[in-house]
Amino acid sequence: MNAPVLETEEHQALRAAVAALGKRYGRDYMTRVTGAEGHPEELWSEAAKLGYLGVNLPEEYGGGGCGISELSIVLEELGAAGSPLLMMVVSPAICGTVISRFGTKEQKRAWLPGLADGSRTMAFGITEPDAGSNSHRITTTARKDDDGTWLLSGRKVFVSGVDIADATLIVGRTSDARTGRLKPCLFIVARDTPGFGRRRIDMELQAPEKQFELTFDDVRLPADALVGDEDAGLLQLFAGLNPERIMTAAFAIGMGRYAVARAVAYARERTVWKDAIGAHQAIAHPLAQAHIELELARLMMQKAARLYDDGDDVGAGEAANMAKYAAAEACVRAVDQSVHTLGGNGLTREFGLASLITGSRVARIAPVSREMILNYVSHQTLGLPKSY
Ligand SMILES: Cc1cc2nc3c(=O)[nH]c(=O)nc-3n(C[C@H](O)[C@H](O)[C@H](O)COP(=O)(O)OP(=O)(O)OC[C@H]3O[C@@H](n4cnc5c(N)ncnc54)[C@H](O)[C@@H]3O)c2cc1C
Repeated sequence: MNAPVLETEEHQALRAAVAALGKRYGRDYMTRVTGAEGHPEELWSEAAKLGYLGVNLPEEYGGGGCGISELSIVLEELGAAGSPLLMMVVSPAICGTVISRFGTKEQKRAWLPGLADGSRTMAFGITEPDAGSNSHRITTTARKDDDGTWLLSGRKVFVSGVDIADATLIVGRTSDARTGRLKPCLFIVARDTPGFGRRRIDMELQAPEKQFELTFDDVRLPADALVGDEDAGLLQLFAGLNPERIMTAAFAIGMGRYAVARAVAYARERTVWKDAIGAHQAIAHPLAQAHIELELARLMMQKAARLYDDGDDVGAGEAANMAKYAAAEACVRAVDQSVHTLGGNGLTREFGLASLITGSRVARIAPVSREMILNYVSHQTLGLPKSY
């Protein structure tokens, strides 16, 4: 896949450099790390050292001073090489963005240099067992004590990487949210805070990043655990969620590209009749379609990233949702067709494609499901009435 003409020379150079890094690690490395119950620490720290993980963070805090456009290139290219870093979606993209935009000077000093140089990571938790897609129903609550500290109680589920993250950015609500309307507040909860419990969820996914159920049992947090303004939570939250959607699109496009490249290489060689199987249009056309769909999804991702980097949060919201949708659907179809192209080998451990079937579904479900994006576009873009 050629780099699109819409990108600057710097973007194309970044793509090429990250692709070269990814090539040195690749899917075999990720499979090894996952099999040993480890984490891709070498890749994480090398990517950080080269300035890729903090490319979107402010220069004065050790970042690259660029935006989500550049960060999404990094994740897409690592994914296309078979070694995506899922924690990039949360650590620099959501948490780094929220702290950069709304954190105090002290919070920025405490977190951004570490997020940029990869020495610290932060997870992000919004999903709750009884709320799921309906984040208006979240009940994790923070109560302010007389001394200004906070007491956080509640539960979260499916939160990625909590075991390796130094802290988790938790979306709670303040206890005076009497109207029932979402009034989210963001809190930094350090990993070893007393009362902060985690239980690993046994997922059918082959990835080094694990998911956790979290419990907060009157977890006492310092006054400065609150990020941003207590009364502007929704705006601050969306500032982080748009990059999350754009980065999930990058994750999906990278995975789809990886799968298609493997299938194309196989289809060029594998011969069971006169010609290689790639000469049969029943094999070639679906791969061509997958390639087209991934390219189209990337265009929407670039639009969303550009709008976001230009400061248009509202415009970026719609585009980021559409990009996430398009990329997830393209990824699911690309992986499905790629596995099929390899016949029986598509299901072998040796070729390593079958586990991408579950992996590719992640982007369809998280961070917001396909249906919730269709709901969003139905209501917000098309003005159709709501059924729920
Ligand atoms: C691998 C993985 C990693 C994750 N990492 C994180 C993380 O780091 N942090 C975090 O906070 N969360 C994380 N999540 C959670 C993820 O964001 C949620 O799973 C997702 O938002 C869906 O919520 P749910 O699973 O409760 O599904 P539900 O909300 O129960 O939905 C179930 C199904 O019903 C459909 N549905 C629900 N409501 C409607 C409606 N109104 N109209 C039509 N259809 C509807 C949904 O589309 C879905 O298909 C992760 C999930 C996975 C799988």
